Amino acid sequence: MYADDTIAAIATPPGRGGVGIVRVTGPLCRQIADRVFSRAHPSGGWSPRHLYHGRVIDEAGAVLDEGLAVLMLRPHSFTGEDVLELHCHGSPVALRRVLKRVLSCGGRLAEPGEFTKRAFLNGRLDLAQAEAVMELVHARTEAGAALASDQLTGRLSARLAELRAQLVHLKALVEAQIDFSEEDVAVDKDELVNMAVHSIDTIQALLDTYTHGLLIRDGVRVVIVGKPNVGKSSLLNALLGDERAIVTPIAGTTRDSIEETAEFDGVPVVLSDTAGLRELAHADAVERLGIQRTSTKIVEADLLLTVIDASCPIDAEDLAVLKTTNGLPRIIVLNKIDLGELASVRGGVVNGEAIVSISAKERRGLADLRRAVVGHVTEGKNLERTGPVLTNLRHHDALTKAKASLDFALESLRAGHPPDIVGVDVQDAIHHVGAITGVVTSEDILDRIFSEFCIGK
Ligand code: GDP
Repeated sequence: MYADDTIAAIATPPGRGGVGIVRVTGPLCRQIADRVFSRAHPSGGWSPRHLYHGRVIDEAGAVLDEGLAVLMLRPHSFTGEDVLELHCHGSPVALRRVLKRVLSCGGRLAEPGEFTKRAFLNGRLDLAQAEAVMELVHARTEAGAALASDQLTGRLSARLAELRAQLVHLKALVEAQIDFSEEDVAVDKDELVNMAVHSIDTIQALLDTYTHGLLIRDGVRVVIVGKPNVGKSSLLNALLGDERAIVTPIAGTTRDSIEETAEFDGVPVVLSDTAGLRELAHADAVERLGIQRTSTKIVEADLLLTVIDASCPIDAEDLAVLKTTNGLPRIIVLNKIDLGELASVRGGVVNGEAIVSISAKERRGLADLRRAVVGHVTEGKNLERTGPVLTNLRHHDALTKAKASLDFALESLRAGHPPDIVGVDVQDAIHHVGAITGVVTSEDILDRIFSEFCIGK
């Protein structure tokens, strides 16, 4: 087993709050509980998973804070070790004092992610689940949090375990050809080919979920661009449903970009408003900074909403914006249609592009715009998924490698190459799939051969 020391950390975010938690895991938890926490009604020992009211005290018995304490004994805890949680007041200073007190009793400060790492090393979670904990903590959208909690329940792990079992079985059959080629162990080549094809399809299906997974996890980055005063801030507010950006009638007031997350038909959208794209020469220093940021944002955006004032003739600034965003994924938004829509404006934008007419002020055309955004990013595909979804680059890489190995194995099988060559590639695929959940391989393959082929017979 890995660490036998005791680690501690403040588990709640920095800053003030109602409650702050100091979390401790490791063999010293009971001892630390006895030394640092004075229960209000001490009768007998600590019952695991019971919440006790009392005081956190220093060596001299002076009160550091009043709160609740709970002790969870291994293996029935998140980390699989003894865990102590001290629920204190949410004051950074008080929490630091409590943490210091815990550390003085023999604990050491935990490294980032170390509680979850211990949960993995102690077999409480597999690697994909441990990563899901991180994803859940870092989720930026509701849909992203839902995906992470789904992965945490082990749905992806179960699919991978199934896939791995298929591959181990395939390897067992291939290896049987090596060991028993002289004897009568008939392994049908077509069956092996079918098994390889089936596994490749399973992997491909998982890989195909990745784009969708990223979309859900990170949200689509939609950036609103246009010359000053066309209504970018108003559009952002209208799409978000309340007044977030500062709207003024003076050109160039959106100094910096503002980012907000919204959901359009279940698709998380990270919307940002940007400083107006106008000639740098016309802008003051602060505005120039904003404009430069806009340019970076434009390049990084998944989709641009290029806003034009539909009520005024297109001018050189509009043309500059259209030119800058030309060739990038964009929807042209003709705003202020409540003031009228000039035919020349619509005629002035490129043919065949997505154009949506709206009035940010009167909240008209917004549903069409949301639909156009969703249609653009999903390319019309249905986002409803029932199976596990990949959201992690490491998993994607591992599965890509597994598939490449299996492609080789399939080629060798079809070409009738010796089984040991096929076996090596299948083993590579097993290794890559196992790497996702953190399984260590090899012994179990032998086990499968013996169990499935009844050697003694
Ligand atoms: P930005 O500089 O592009 O962010 O533009 P703002 O959102 O600050 O809007 C500039 C001005 O245009 C403000 O006075 C808004 O009230 C006005 N405006 C924005 N959208 C509309 C609209 O759809 N119709 C009308 N009539 N005025 C609008």
